[in-house]
Amino acid sequence: MIPYGRQEITQEDVDAVVEVLRSDFLTQGPCISKFEALIANYCKVNHAVASNSATSSLHLACLALGLNHGDYLWTSPISFVASANCARYCGANIDFVDIDLSTGNMSVDNLARKLSIAKKLGCLPKIVVPVHLAGRPCDMKAIYDMGQQYGFKIIEDASHAIGAKYDGQPVGDCRYSDVTIFSFHPVKIITTAEGGVSLTNCIKLANKMETLRSHGITRKTDCMDQEPDGSWYYQQIDLGFNYRMTEIQAALGVSQIKRLDEYIERRHAIADRYDVELAPLPLILPFRDKLNYSSLHLYPIRLKKPDFRKLVFEKLKAKGVGVNVHYIPIHLQPYYKKLGFKVGDFPNAEKYYSEIISLPIYPTLTSKEQDYIIKELKVLLS
Ligand SMILES: *Cc1c(COP(=O)(O)O)cnc(C)c1O
Repeated sequence: MIPYGRQEITQEDVDAVVEVLRSDFLTQGPCISKFEALIANYCKVNHAVASNSATSSLHLACLALGLNHGDYLWTSPISFVASANCARYCGANIDFVDIDLSTGNMSVDNLARKLSIAKKLGCLPKIVVPVHLAGRPCDMKAIYDMGQQYGFKIIEDASHAIGAKYDGQPVGDCRYSDVTIFSFHPVKIITTAEGGVSLTNCIKLANKMETLRSHGITRKTDCMDQEPDGSWYYQQIDLGFNYRMTEIQAALGVSQIKRLDEYIERRHAIADRYDVELAPLPLILPFRDKLNYSSLHLYPIRLKKPDFRKLVFEKLKAKGVGVNVHYIPIHLQPYYKKLGFKVGDFPNAEKYYSEIISLPIYPTLTSKEQDYIIKELKVLLS
């Protein structure tokens, strides 16, 4: 089976991990800050706080921004459930902004409309979480301007989008957001097995996320309410978690990030080839443009013929092509239906879901494998 995505682990990665295993620190050692510095430098952002998953990083970001009971967080219904769950962890309410069918991203027109209604009703969101679906950046400038106008904070769920560029600048620079999150799950662009990071230009947010990542404990004397009893002294100043990344994971990340640009180029070469070869077929191919340089985490095709998706999906699977669907709309998950969401609430998201299939795309996909995928699709759709 050709998977829809997979990691590449080189001998250099293995050596980096083994070196940590033989060292003094398996956790809370020097690799974490090295990895954080490399990401911050790559993204041209001031602070990076690594964690054990992007889900944890989303939770930390919501907590640092003060999300609480009674507050609203808005995100895209076409995302992984974690984009919404982070609000629920804080006891906050969730709502969704319907997508733009051409990109699958949160529609800024729908956001504008929903904000003006929410303002009248007095239920504006505290946080908006745009998701850069498949690695294609959302229209961040427009979302930022609305944030200024309506007073909400912004967390970019860039789980798919490390290595992407928005308006020529790296996603993660937080020019148009308070915090940006990346995921390092093995199907994502680079991996630490499990892992995530939150990026910010605000030192206060960075300190808060760092403290909450490790039980709410600090060793910084200026954060304490008294002089330390001695050099062993620490204080718990908040209710935090154990969301730490290990040294083993961070060492893998340090080794992987060296190949990030190479990976993105390879993904673009694969996508270019799909673009050309699949153009004659009755499909809507991913929307690609220069302003929004995608990391191409996914290559989602849309089937124009209604009710054709399931058939094509099952046939490709039977032929050993490991396709996938990104995503089942979050509002249609039983947990969210119990909160009051129902079919018809976000029609674009539901239409998108009914048409979509993610084709295999990852750096080690060979051209022979891609030939085979293209051939099978042509057989099915010509
Ligand atoms: C993968 C993913 C997450 C969660 O990432 P983890 O590191 O697995 O916790 C969140 N949001 C989106 C959009 C994702 O694709």
